[in-house]
Amino acid sequence: MLSEGTPAMRLRCSRRARSDSVRSAMTRYVHLFSDPPATQVKELLGGKGAGLAEMTRLGIPVPPGLTITTEACRAAYASGGTWPSTLRAEVLAALLVVEQGLDARFGDTTQPLLLSVRSGARVSMPGMMDTILNVGLNDATVEALAARTNDRRFAFDAYRRFVTMYGGVVLGIDRHLFETELSDLKRSLGNPSMPDPEVPVDALERLVARLKALVLEHAGKPFPSDPHEQLWGAVAAVFESWNSKRAVTYRRMYNYPDDWGTAVSVQSMVFGNMGDDCGTGVAFTRNPSNGERLLYGEYLLNAQGEDVVAGIRTPKAIAAVSSPRGRESESLERALPDVYAQFVAVAARLETHFRDVQDIEFTIQRGKLWLLQTRNGKRTGRAAVRIAIDMVDEGLITTDEAVLRVDPSAAEQLLHPRVPEPERLAKEGIVALASGLPASPGAATGIIVFDADDAVRTAKDGTKVVLVRGETSPEDIHGMKAAQGILTAMGGMTSHAAVVARGMGKCCVAGVSDMHVDVRAGKLIVRAHGGRAERTFVRGDVLTLDGTFGKVYAGEVPVEPAASVPGFDRLMAWVDAARRLRVRANADTPKGARDARAFGAEGIGLCRTEHMFFAADRLSAVRCVVLAGTPEDRNKWLAEIEPMQRQDFVEIFRAMAGLPVTIRLLDWPLHEFMPREPAEMAQIAAALGESVEVVSRRAELLHELNPMLGHRGARLGLTHPDIYAAQARAIIEAACIVVAEGLEVLPEIMIPVVMLAEELTRIEATVRSAAETVFAARGQRVPYLFGTMIELPRACIVADKIAASAEFFSFGTNDLTQTTLGVSRDDAGHFLPDYLGEGLRVLTRDPFASIDRDGVGALVQMACERGRSARPDIKLGICGEHGGDPSSIAFFEEVGLAYVSCSPFRVPIARLAAAQASLRGKK
Ligand code: ADP
Ligand code: MG
Ligand code: MG
Repeated sequence: MLSEGTPAMRLRCSRRARSDSVRSAMTRYVHLFSDPPATQVKELLGGKGAGLAEMTRLGIPVPPGLTITTEACRAAYASGGTWPSTLRAEVLAALLVVEQGLDARFGDTTQPLLLSVRSGARVSMPGMMDTILNVGLNDATVEALAARTNDRRFAFDAYRRFVTMYGGVVLGIDRHLFETELSDLKRSLGNPSMPDPEVPVDALERLVARLKALVLEHAGKPFPSDPHEQLWGAVAAVFESWNSKRAVTYRRMYNYPDDWGTAVSVQSMVFGNMGDDCGTGVAFTRNPSNGERLLYGEYLLNAQGEDVVAGIRTPKAIAAVSSPRGRESESLERALPDVYAQFVAVAARLETHFRDVQDIEFTIQRGKLWLLQTRNGKRTGRAAVRIAIDMVDEGLITTDEAVLRVDPSAAEQLLHPRVPEPERLAKEGIVALASGLPASPGAATGIIVFDADDAVRTAKDGTKVVLVRGETSPEDIHGMKAAQGILTAMGGMTSHAAVVARGMGKCCVAGVSDMHVDVRAGKLIVRAHGGRAERTFVRGDVLTLDGTFGKVYAGEVPVEPAASVPGFDRLMAWVDAARRLRVRANADTPKGARDARAFGAEGIGLCRTEHMFFAADRLSAVRCVVLAGTPEDRNKWLAEIEPMQRQDFVEIFRAMAGLPVTIRLLDWPLHEFMPREPAEMAQIAAALGESVEVVSRRAELLHELNPMLGHRGARLGLTHPDIYAAQARAIIEAACIVVAEGLEVLPEIMIPVVMLAEELTRIEATVRSAAETVFAARGQRVPYLFGTMIELPRACIVADKIAASAEFFSFGTNDLTQTTLGVSRDDAGHFLPDYLGEGLRVLTRDPFASIDRDGVGALVQMACERGRSARPDIKLGICGEHGGDPSSIAFFEEVGLAYVSCSPFRVPIARLAAAQASLRGKK
């Protein structure tokens, strides 16, 4: 792949016949909107091109145009930067067809056609790539445009935008320089805050000349006046933007492959900047924040392109009901009622057609509505749930589809903590500093930083930061990712900050108009509510954001757990009906077990018993067990701990009555239990009735250089069989007690870190005989399973032999990843970020967060097959971190595990991901 936009890598259009000519002869790289490919439409045309083609087919007004396929982009990259030789001719031929329908010609000096050149990947990557509008303008065509439209001001407004965009995107000149020219001009006209539409025509003409001079100065060559040169330059820039830093960052974040490539749509321009019966805007067919069924969007009169999202002017609401009180007349509904009516009809049509919320971009030219884009709208978790349920009730989608509509990571937001409602805080005397738009829900507290790089640097050591900007741009992505929340002074609900934050599930308050951000001085100046008093905050000060209500608080405000979402239970009922995988939780305590059950866990997949040893009331007894000089001594101390453990198990079994509970016997390096303070050591020695020196020496002998690979798990169980025997007794006795209470108990005793079948055979003997002793003593039997955690590569390879004793396997994918990759979880931080990041990019996903399918996954699969071959009814599950990761869950569904187990609060996410994996598998 080519690296990020160095001028040296300009893509070239090959004129020579190339070795790929045979292939080119068959491959079509260009499609008119009106003539899309028969299959793989999104893959070839990108989401935007596919949407434009589909709207064209539906007869919705779309300015005509063509799309260059992603295949052309891929071919260009594959050949090191040379386009397919047929591309130019194909584009020109398609352009001819476009021109015929419009009675204007590209480059013509009397009837000039202007074009937009737009990027579009397979999935929408909002703001990630570059779009160039008004391509085709030069000193001659601008005159023709002025004459034809009888609006010279408009023509030059379009021209100055074009030079700015082209200079920035294609010629790589800092866009800021162009913008400074405009503000200097306004200042020279005596009004620094003059709205763009009021800049007079002669000033615009001077501005264009200035901007072109700027280009000459910085690019070392004149601004290209040949429309065709402009067009190909723009197409190349879009192709190149696929590998821009921000696009790459975005792909990393969402795990999109680098080799999809982008399509390029070349479209005839319509103009929203021709006067007050013109405008441009963006809208959602329903509210993307709360899901309300209400057309939701913003627009600007007399504006072009990205003015709405850029936050340069504050946009107005589309529907009157969504306008701030007293500003209804500014809504599109009131300002241009005819257009509004067209808009409502088109929006409804699109939503019914695509059967999902649409995110629409449009332009109004002289009272006529043109659609420029439609795609499925990104939404918050809360909105996703509501919309899915409403659409089922409206008969638009099935319950299975509803399940697929809620993105697990969006649903996770619902479980996010939040700042208490402003009214409730007010009662406690906590008043917001300022208000803005509730752009993305959630809560964030952190020190403020004004710069994305600073955010990344500061957050590195776990410091919580809030990124504060006037407005964000795609260059800020990495900082937004590192921050807890994002605060902007400008921009609306569809501003870059808002859209990206919602996508990331990150809290964002946008458009706080009482706030002024001076990035250079590193200051945030807030005009406190209602008053004239100003407060200044500098980098490092703490703020709390409430993205749900759009409030900003000084300092830290206590956050509370997520509130319930209406309808969530209904959705989860559909989820549970759709999934095959069971979902358990990892829980070590009775409270954890109760929480897990409340989140819908269907058992405990991993109950670690370490904490049962670490609890304050038993730690010294445990230390005596470890440091005892004789087996008799050890047994004496074990006997002290046993009843406490038994009681823990009793409560966990009660909490999980009727559901399986997998209990892992002790897996802890012994030295972790060692007393660190001399006083503690003296106390243990006294308890054991031995000298401090003797006991200390015993403790020293336990020291390990690499405890991860040391004396732990089954190894401990074999060398200290009394410990496992005592644990087994406690479990079985607890089970007998709870069964005697009339409850159903399904214990599963699990042995960790097994590498040899022989280890397990011997431990099985210990455990079973302990169980039999209990049964005999109580005259009562309970069913239980004996099995193992699979967490070493060797165990996967000899899984058939291990299955001779193991009635179940539970994949401990944390250790299995560690041992398969040979990467220590504790030390990965030294290099894994580089592996994942921009610099090296050798890994696309953190293997500890999302399962490494090719390596660890292959071992899991092998172990499943071998385990089943020896014991067809073997029970298979997973209890590593991966059990809560949606893409890993999809993998576990594929290999046919019986259950996944994850932390209690992730259980709903895992249930959802499991249902989606089932449904996708069926498709
Ligand atoms: P993005 O992917 O960043 O949304 P787009 O290609 O959609 O980029 O372009 C951004 C904006 O440019 C559009 O929302 C629209 O306002 C404007 N635009 C694009 N193409 C045209 C066109 N043919 N006519 C008028 N405006 C256009
Ligand atoms: Mg854009
Ligand atoms: Mg767009």
